[in-house]
Amino acid sequence: MTAMTHASPAFFDLVVIGAGPAGSAAAIHGVAAGYQVLLVESGALGRDKTCGDGLTPRAISELRKLGLADVVTERYTNRGLKLHGYGGSVTAPWPESAYGTVGSAMPRTLFDEHLARTAQQRGADVRALSTAHAPVVTRGRITELTVQPADGEAYTVRPKWVIVADGVRSPVGKELGRRWHREEVYGIAARSYVSSPFHAEPWMHSHVELRGEDGAIQPGYGWIFPLGDGTVNLGCGALSTNARPAKVNTKKLLDHYADLCRPDWQLGMPERVTSALLPMGGAVSQVAGGNWMLIGDAAAGVNPLNGEGIDYGLEMAEWAIDMLATDAAAELRRAWPELLRERYGEAFLLARTAARLLTYPQFLPTVGPLALRGPIGARLMPAAARLMANLITDDDRDLLARMWRAAGHCASAVRRDTPLWS
Ligand SMILES: Cc1cc2nc3c(=O)[nH]c(=O)nc-3n(C[C@H](O)[C@H](O)[C@H](O)COP(=O)(O)OP(=O)(O)OC[C@H]3O[C@@H](n4cnc5c(N)ncnc54)[C@H](O)[C@@H]3O)c2cc1C
Repeated sequence: MTAMTHASPAFFDLVVIGAGPAGSAAAIHGVAAGYQVLLVESGALGRDKTCGDGLTPRAISELRKLGLADVVTERYTNRGLKLHGYGGSVTAPWPESAYGTVGSAMPRTLFDEHLARTAQQRGADVRALSTAHAPVVTRGRITELTVQPADGEAYTVRPKWVIVADGVRSPVGKELGRRWHREEVYGIAARSYVSSPFHAEPWMHSHVELRGEDGAIQPGYGWIFPLGDGTVNLGCGALSTNARPAKVNTKKLLDHYADLCRPDWQLGMPERVTSALLPMGGAVSQVAGGNWMLIGDAAAGVNPLNGEGIDYGLEMAEWAIDMLATDAAAELRRAWPELLRERYGEAFLLARTAARLLTYPQFLPTVGPLALRGPIGARLMPAAARLMANLITDDDRDLLARMWRAAGHCASAVRRDTPLWS
């Protein structure tokens, strides 16, 4: 990390809190838009983040706009998903779409450090090991923020705009009144790194029939995402709601899952096992104020059907910076959640509804054998994988895209009560 100077001006056009993918991307877009940017990160640059490290074409497409796709894809690429379980396996290549057909995976320590350092190289003032807190809010606008370096004295910064990208627990978001609605579906998941000679296999693998040590089906799924560096990211996750909490010890389940997959993948032992929560489907409220916006996990920008959040964080970063240059900047409190609902609302509502079904214990054992075996599965699952990864754009006119949009309209009409960035 380059030396940080606290003698920098206390005023910034844009202060970004959190140097995960969402925050670093916001800083990069902010610099490109001509802002003087301060990016504050409480950890070291490239701190570890519990994640599956998977990047769908949607994420790669957004990285391309940042000029960062090649660094990722030169290391490793994948071609789609392989889904396994209930006596069957289905291969679902990434579909032809505006996002392209290339996916990847990269350990978050490398990925996040790369993004944060790019923000720094392009001109953002990046201050790692520094925690932002205590926003002073006057008439809905943040007028001051305190930055506390790990090894120094706290100081104050005055922002024109603030982008809060401080992750799942969003401590600054909380200070600003952000509420996470756990009555909606959220994820609990664990990941590990495991050596495997099949580390360069060009498919992401998901096991939707996940059994515990006692043989009972668990309300979740396991994944093996090859990383092309001698290891795979192996993990498991479950969907939960306050009403039907997933009673799963994810770390214990991960060990068992690794044991089951070991023969096929010649796996070593799981290392660096960590677990975390996933906020999903826009299930938070109070995501913007007079001069501030929440993005990424802080805004629950995770797809409830596949647990992806990196791409949504990158997209929100771009849209947030774009919005600051429009008339809507005068009304962020209303305009930001409205834009999120417009761009993600229907897809996330449908995904949330489908994900909720998965929290019913009997759902997967009933549907799984149908979906993954025989000719029905072979036809159905590639389409399902396209929906799960939300790889449908407004320009797509095929039957599946039209059906998905129609279902989205219906879901929006029926479930008005659901807090989606309310
Ligand atoms: C087990 C698991 C598997 C997952 N797998 C995938 C996957 O394969 N693909 C995918 O796309 N997504 C996946 N996700 C989701 C993905 O990890 C998140 O959606 C993504 O990290 C969100 O990025 P972010 O920038 O919003 O937040 P984060 O990456 O969490 O970054 C937030 C940053 O803010 C910093 N911060 C917090 N508070 C402060 C403060 N007060 N001051 C300064 N800095 C602060 C934190 O240190 C952190 O670095 C997974 C999640 C889990 C838990």
